[in-house]
Amino acid sequence: MKPIEMTLRSRVLLFAAVAVGLVALVGGVLFVTASRGERGLAQMLAIQSQTEIYGRMTDESFGYLSTLLHTRETGGDTQAVLEAQEKRFAAGFARLEELVREEHAGEPMEGELERIEQLQRALQRWLRGSEERVRLAPGGGEAATLVHESLQAFREKVAPHLKEAWDQSRADLDEHERRGQQSLGIGRVVGVAVPLVALVLVLSMASIIYLNMRRALGTLLERAQRMGEGDLDSELPVKGERDEYDLMARAINRMATQLRSAVQERERYNALLEQTVRQRTAELEQANARLTDSLQQLQAAQSQLLFADRLATVGQLAAGVGHELNNPLAFVLSNLNYAQQVVTEMEAAPTPVERRELLEALADAREGAERVRLIVRDLRMLSHPDDREMGPVDLVKVVRSAAKMAAHEIRGRARLVQAVENVPPVHGNSARLCQVFLNLLINAAHAIAPGAVERNEIKLSARVDGTHRVTVEVRDTGSGISKDKLERVFEPFFTTKPAGEGSGLGLSVCKSIISAHGGDISVESEPGQGTTFRVSLPVYGGEARA
Ligand code: ADP
Repeated sequence: MKPIEMTLRSRVLLFAAVAVGLVALVGGVLFVTASRGERGLAQMLAIQSQTEIYGRMTDESFGYLSTLLHTRETGGDTQAVLEAQEKRFAAGFARLEELVREEHAGEPMEGELERIEQLQRALQRWLRGSEERVRLAPGGGEAATLVHESLQAFREKVAPHLKEAWDQSRADLDEHERRGQQSLGIGRVVGVAVPLVALVLVLSMASIIYLNMRRALGTLLERAQRMGEGDLDSELPVKGERDEYDLMARAINRMATQLRSAVQERERYNALLEQTVRQRTAELEQANARLTDSLQQLQAAQSQLLFADRLATVGQLAAGVGHELNNPLAFVLSNLNYAQQVVTEMEAAPTPVERRELLEALADAREGAERVRLIVRDLRMLSHPDDREMGPVDLVKVVRSAAKMAAHEIRGRARLVQAVENVPPVHGNSARLCQVFLNLLINAAHAIAPGAVERNEIKLSARVDGTHRVTVEVRDTGSGISKDKLERVFEPFFTTKPAGEGSGLGLSVCKSIISAHGGDISVESEPGQGTTFRVSLPVYGGEARA
């Protein structure tokens, strides 16, 4: 079907106009039919009233005759009876004329009025003739003759007019009835046919509008779907100027164009982004390489730092260790000299007393050599060749070794109390941990002035925190650290000791060793009261390691 070239608004307006027109037509037809029926009913009522008046006039005529006769018999005034009857008939005829006018409203009615006038004149003549006859007739038994004559006169002069009028009314009534039936038939046909035609028309128009809209919407929908699938190139056909479809098609085409340029813009932007990302990645790779270099340099520097600190510790220890070694060595030497001298001077087999003294000297020498071995062993722990070797570390042993090495520094300043026992092994490197505790013990010793051993104490203790960590505490009763310095003690090269005595590296190296162990080191101090360092380390095999 060729589509009707109309805008959607025009179609809907046309549809509404046709619907309203059809409703108005149906209403008009029904109104006219009802008005005609009403008018027909009024006419029929008017005709019926006329017929009744004709009947009443006939009856009254006979009544008038008997009234006349009775009046004459009683010596009354027959002329008064005539006048009264004339008045009544005049009123009847006036009413008749009114009814005829009602019946023929807007239609010609001269013939009808003429007929009524003829009847009125005939009836008037009869009334007067009858009165005259009764009044002038001699008295006695002539009443029957009088009635007979008057009735004869009525039959001849009045009845034909009455019959004619009555027949006319009857004919009018039949005509109106016929017309009424006809109007009813038309009304019935119109009442059924017009709504049917209206329904068919409205349905056809609605279908045409619906089909056109569906076709246009289908095209628009298909285009929108294609756009959604990424096809932005094909255009919707545009025909007219004011059609809603055309407006929408234009809008969709415009949208597709804008989308096309947005997509192109996005592609351009993506390409630019990719290029920028590539460029940045290259820059990042370069920076990463530089960072790796720096890291390696830093690691090398850190190793050197650790080594330097170890050297410093060893340097500090050298005098003490020398002294420690000197004592047992002098002991060993004097006992060996004694033994050598006894054996040299001996000529025969030794006496039991000589033998016992010799054995005692050798045992003392052996004990002295054993003390030297232990000191050397502890020194080896500090200079362990492989720093990276990690494993279970017995803190009791490590702390004891560190205490032994620091014994020379502590002696003469404070009592050393060791309460490190029954702790699980921690994960780490024993040489490095020994270095940490040795540093802490030497610092504690240096914080206490020599000479008041009884009043000062350095205490080593340990406790298990939860199931995964062990905390070792090094507490001293030394000078303490003021608040402003407390924040800086872990900084590399921070020292309060005179040049040549302190490097300021000890605590920073301790911190980096403990951090490398997954542990933590903290300090608490009260100037004049003392200082406590706490080292927390993960238990070997515990979850904290993970
Ligand atoms: P150094 O001992 O070479 O000075 P450290 O890093 O070991 O370097 O210590 C830094 C500073 O922290 C010390 O100079 C000292 O002032 C302070 N300090 C460290 N331990 C204690 C302590 N137990 N009591 C008081 N002061 C301490």
